[in-house]
Amino acid sequence: MGFKVNPNRQLCQSLLEVQQYLETWETQRRELPYMTDGVVVKLNSLSLQKQLGETRKFPRWAIALKYPAEELPTKIISVTFQVGRTGALTPVAELEPVQLAGTTVKRATLHNQDRLTELDLHIGDTVIVRKAGEIIPEVVRVLPDLRPTGAKLVTMSTHCPECGETVIKTPAEAVTRCINSSCPAIVRGSIIHWCQRPALDINGIGEKLVQQLVDAQLVRSVADLYDLNMDQLLELDRMGEKSAQKILAAIATSKQQPWHRVLYGLGIRHVGKANADLLAQNFPSCQSLAAASSAQIEGVYGIGAEIATSVYQWFQNPANISLCDRLQQAGLQLTSVPSTAPKSTHQAQPFAGKTFVLTGTLPTLSRDQAKSMIENAGGKVTNSVTKKVDYLLLGEKPGSKLKKAQDLAIANLSESDFLAMIKSANF
Ligand SMILES: [Zn+2]
Repeated sequence: MGFKVNPNRQLCQSLLEVQQYLETWETQRRELPYMTDGVVVKLNSLSLQKQLGETRKFPRWAIALKYPAEELPTKIISVTFQVGRTGALTPVAELEPVQLAGTTVKRATLHNQDRLTELDLHIGDTVIVRKAGEIIPEVVRVLPDLRPTGAKLVTMSTHCPECGETVIKTPAEAVTRCINSSCPAIVRGSIIHWCQRPALDINGIGEKLVQQLVDAQLVRSVADLYDLNMDQLLELDRMGEKSAQKILAAIATSKQQPWHRVLYGLGIRHVGKANADLLAQNFPSCQSLAAASSAQIEGVYGIGAEIATSVYQWFQNPANISLCDRLQQAGLQLTSVPSTAPKSTHQAQPFAGKTFVLTGTLPTLSRDQAKSMIENAGGKVTNSVTKKVDYLLLGEKPGSKLKKAQDLAIANLSESDFLAMIKSANF
């Protein structure tokens, strides 16, 4: 039909042919102008696809077959520590360069203290490195027999390499953290997060510029971005008037971003995009969220105890409250603007506030189709049967959810009941 398709695809007539294809490409893939880690095998016949159906998450008629990750030995020159946005320290092995899966690998992650202990890693050790998913190299194991005499054991740094403060590890967590909120690494990380697309989407502020802004002490928190002026930007290395203007304009535009994006941008631990959306729907302003108890936050459907505690604690910190105040003064949206979108007035929302669970195979609708119809009609789909569920959408060969739903006296709907409900609401 004119779509671009991969010229290296092949229609196989038997599993043996599939196997041969796999074997051929295990070596041939190195000649491709892009990185690969495996082959996807799909059943070509649509009717067979339908017959096989899908599990809760995956189709049964397609599978990704991964080639074993390439592993090679090299030596540990030293170990450095990186500090992330949350203050988490990651030990990184600096390696004797080695060619692995098409690139030169010089560094590999050692994850955390527990992993270091497990590896019993010493400087000068010969180690096996591998590219996990052929992207992030990691140290798989150590060859202790090749250890030079007197080699120094690698331990977690006791101080933050960026700010020098003592780092902390709680027994509950595998992670060692710097908890100095003005640590340059944490400040940089939180600004980069703030500027990213799902957050405030500020174009033109990348890692290099953030580094410059933080080094020059022009920016100590995301709120400082909104105080930047032309003269300050022009003092930075390699900054022209035009780019400075663009950056200031992008910062100004970000003030129009809605409250849920601002909430996500704040980078509260465990508050990803989906949780930020949920929280913003239930707490239409920063003030209402800040005033909520941990229990009230946990009362939001879909928000667990760990997230609730994290959000609650974040708002107990006076520094965070004053950050929110500054953002408000700068003109950011810390309140949901009442929606004037035509969606709510023209489109029927027969399932508003209703929660559905799906089980079994529906006669005509796929799981995804049913899910998006429910969501478009204002309802929610969840995977677990609890008292909060209103309807069980029931197909052929239902799972254990049916029994649970019966125990809780939750109403069953067949696909035709369900379609009739949507239809009647649209009239
Ligand atoms: Zn630090």
